[in-house]
Amino acid sequence: MLKEEKLQYQNTPDFAKQADSEDPLAHFREKFNLPRDENSKNLIYLCGNSLGLQPKKARDYVAEELDNWAEIAVEGHFKAKIPWTEYHEILAQPMADIVGAKPGEVVIMNTLSTNLHLMMVSFYRPTPKRHKILIESDAFPSDSYAVKSQIHERGYNPNESLILWKPRAGEDLCRLEDLEALMEQHGEEIALVMIGNSNYYTGQKYPIKEITQLGHKYGCKVGFDLAHGVGNIDADLHENGPDFAVWCTYKYLNSGPGALGGCFVHERHANDSSIPRFTGWWGHKMDSRFNMRVDFDPIPGAEGWQLSNPPILSMAPIRASLEIFAEAGFQNIRAKSRKLTGYLEYLINEIKDDRIWILTPSNPDERGCQLSIQVKNADRSMHDGFMQAGIICDWREPDVIRVAPAPLYNSFEDVYEMAQRLKQLLAQK
Ligand SMILES: *Cc1c(COP(=O)(O)O)cnc(C)c1O
Repeated sequence: MLKEEKLQYQNTPDFAKQADSEDPLAHFREKFNLPRDENSKNLIYLCGNSLGLQPKKARDYVAEELDNWAEIAVEGHFKAKIPWTEYHEILAQPMADIVGAKPGEVVIMNTLSTNLHLMMVSFYRPTPKRHKILIESDAFPSDSYAVKSQIHERGYNPNESLILWKPRAGEDLCRLEDLEALMEQHGEEIALVMIGNSNYYTGQKYPIKEITQLGHKYGCKVGFDLAHGVGNIDADLHENGPDFAVWCTYKYLNSGPGALGGCFVHERHANDSSIPRFTGWWGHKMDSRFNMRVDFDPIPGAEGWQLSNPPILSMAPIRASLEIFAEAGFQNIRAKSRKLTGYLEYLINEIKDDRIWILTPSNPDERGCQLSIQVKNADRSMHDGFMQAGIICDWREPDVIRVAPAPLYNSFEDVYEMAQRLKQLLAQK
């Protein structure tokens, strides 16, 4: 395939077809169930930022565990092909590859908001001098609620202890230099820097490395919420060095509605059993876990934050999804994603209509696969217009369409069709 820098996009259906025929990942689309309309026609699905598509193998892997349960019942914990007591362990390596971590730094457990709370129990340790949390101003609502409730629960006041990193007046994106200025001013009062990556609304990807270094320079703990990034940005968590990260697996990781979340705890904390945490038996060392009378002795690394024995039926689809990621190779996925989202950006710019603009940064290093398109004076009828054409994308009040070409199952033709439809809808306005 052409190198991205030299890729000469063209605004024609033939170009889109050609790009698909040269795409080394094109066949991965076959591994997913694509949603259909009532006439069994495939829909164009550009909503992987909300719920990723179902890997075909998910059903088999869930069935495998239902069979184990039916046939060997409690023995499944040790005698299933993948013993249930080890199920989360086989997911750790492929998950770690996607976020750029060591396997011991990653665990699949609970759900995102729950993991965020557990991480804040450990890494938000406010003192009268240092009790603030810094987040981006347009944080996902759940993150913002979680952070405020933690501040409140520790006896502080969110009105005083929450600092927002905001875009400047008249701008949509946050600037790193403004974060630097905030840190210079408040760094010594901040206990935790907690950033979503990439931003669910604008699609802006914040630099994990720079933000982590900045936070650590002022003695703060640093955490990231990768919900919108995981599976489509390079997080390089181990190298970049944040203290923790959390994410969900039902967006770009295609593991099913409400699927379990992922959690990263940096290796530097792996053997520190003095870190305060909420504990449960599944975080206890395996060899003495079932000897129920001993004091809590955590498994080193992220696994030591587990509470409960995990829901195997919910882990089975994650297994199916992570197999696909491992087979495709994460760097190949990123490479395709840059081209695919770049193509969408090119096509939208070709529409040349000053009623629309893209909020997401134009630099591919500062975004993942999502583009957020703002439409002047738009309302939901625009979204309905896409639905009528069999195109599923995501509408955010008041006037933003979020389009997320997912590199594992979206094609250049999907993206071309979406842009054509956008052009038509604008012409009708
Ligand atoms: C999707 C998303 C969530 C959802 O949290 P759940 O606990 O999985 O319901 C939270 N935060 C961000 C940034 C998200 O993108």
